[in-house]
Amino acid sequence: MGKYKVTALPGEGTGPEIFEAVRLVIDASGVEIEWEYEEIGLDCIEKYGTLLPDKTIQSINRNKLALKGPTTTPVGGGHKSANVTLRKVFDLYANVRPAKSVPAMKRPWDIDLINIRENTEDCYAAIEHMVSDEVAQCLKVITWPGSLRIADFAFTFARRMGRKKVQCVHKANIMKMTDGLFLEAFRTVAKNYPEIEAGDVIVDNCSMQLVKNPQNFDVLVLPNLYGDILSDLCAGLSAGLGFAPGANIGPTVAIFEAVHGSAPKYAGQNKVNPSAVLGSGIMMLRHLGEEKAAKQIDKAMHAVLLEGKHVTYDVGGTAGTHEYAQAIVDKMKTLK
Ligand code: NAD
Repeated sequence: MGKYKVTALPGEGTGPEIFEAVRLVIDASGVEIEWEYEEIGLDCIEKYGTLLPDKTIQSINRNKLALKGPTTTPVGGGHKSANVTLRKVFDLYANVRPAKSVPAMKRPWDIDLINIRENTEDCYAAIEHMVSDEVAQCLKVITWPGSLRIADFAFTFARRMGRKKVQCVHKANIMKMTDGLFLEAFRTVAKNYPEIEAGDVIVDNCSMQLVKNPQNFDVLVLPNLYGDILSDLCAGLSAGLGFAPGANIGPTVAIFEAVHGSAPKYAGQNKVNPSAVLGSGIMMLRHLGEEKAAKQIDKAMHAVLLEGKHVTYDVGGTAGTHEYAQAIVDKMKTLK
């Protein structure tokens, strides 16, 4: 019996090989985790008629925690993405995506910011329809309770992580009601956190500032659509998709997963970089209060990356997914 029970969702495409590499590293940290393997994704449609079988839902409900590899989204009608379904079923309203420089991936700036994206409302509420043959309409839904809870999440998170500044990203100068409500809720919540600097920035200006001076940003809180776009921009600014981790957090359940997809063209080749899912695993360890193990893995990963001998193709190396993970495990032993 492990100290923690976590639902393991290896996912599809390159997901399973990445997941096993990540598990190798996390298990080597000494944190006792009992992994409960469950299925999710396209293969489940044939077997169970759904992307997200009941058995998987029950496991996540029991364990309250899951680590997920990427899944493949079916193109065309019929089924939603597994991720969208997970967000809905567990009300995973906060999407947390840190963007931190990786010393081995040389960039002209040093960046260490966190995007906190509202995950359930905005244009992603999936209220779309044809008004006529020539006019399509998508409703942007922003609610006061939804905006209050994401703002409160962002400030609580900032306080816990010792962050100094939280900025609300919006377009309230044009969308006065929807984004105006989001901004007003942010300002209301900010009053409860006087030690944290609160500010706001219009989304287009924010995009420009992020590219020019990314080191000036700390914590950003964004409605769904801006959060989706800007967090990918930040992933590119920091170290690329192979390194972008994430977490989806709800009132009772937290699911940790990388920003990238299943990269199906590399499936089964032991080729891709597992760092983003490993980074998500490190976030999960921090969520559990296992700071020592989180730090140990992070340090070993960066040491292996800086040495450059056992790194994957996207970092300019020839090591496979497994060899890179094994090198991190070996490094952890020397750093103990
Ligand atoms: P992708 O992120 O899977 O891959 C795009 C490219 O990025 C790859 O071809 C590869 O060159 C590179 N890349 C991605 N991950 C990498 C890694 N770990 N190491 C090294 N290089 C990496 O995006 P896509 O091709 O647009 O999507 C493939 C499938 O994944 C689609 O079905 C999409 O819907 C799905 N998807 C899933 C998630 C998720 O499960 N969280 C997220 C995004 C996309």
